[in-house]
Amino acid sequence: MTDVTECSSENNKVRTRLSKIKFPDRCPVCMDPAEDLVFITIIEKYGPDSYDSSSWTKSDDKTAVALQASQSATTFSVPTCMAHGSKSVRTIRTRLVSVVGFFVLFYPIIFYLLQINLGIIYSRPLVEPIIGALFFVALLVLTILYSLVPRALERALKFENTSRTKDSVEVVILNREYRQLFCEMNGVFTEVVSDEQ
Ligand SMILES: [Zn+2]
Repeated sequence: MTDVTECSSENNKVRTRLSKIKFPDRCPVCMDPAEDLVFITIIEKYGPDSYDSSSWTKSDDKTAVALQASQSATTFSVPTCMAHGSKSVRTIRTRLVSVVGFFVLFYPIIFYLLQINLGIIYSRPLVEPIIGALFFVALLVLTILYSLVPRALERALKFENTSRTKDSVEVVILNREYRQLFCEMNGVFTEVVSDEQ
């Protein structure tokens, strides 16, 4: 039996049963009442240095959810507020933006860098190619940020050491209040994981 007060400690990682996991009806980021639903899929990795990959899916993307569920991955839904919900999570598509952006923006950047190079060699005006290069580099940086910076929800809720066979999952919850609610809801199946372990 877990002491719920333990969940209010500095330790922000709790272990619970994968099959019994329940999420409070509050947003994990701001504690506002839940208005939206976001699906998270966790794919278990096997092997000694295994890590879990997790991906967020918008709730309206039903086929993606069904597909991931059939691929022996674990999917559950997390209630969130509107602001931190399905519109603000990075899906696989969001991550692809940086890859596509890189290929699309790579050639203009090379083009302008060559123009700068030629400009230096033939003492032509450099303003135009420099502006061009800066513009496309800035676009590339924005694309990468858009696609790679974790959103608030991803920082607030992380899943580690998922095991279907052991029926356990470790959840890192940053918000103390949410963590306490989570512990109360998942009750006897929940224990706090200390970092020393
Ligand atoms: Zn919120």
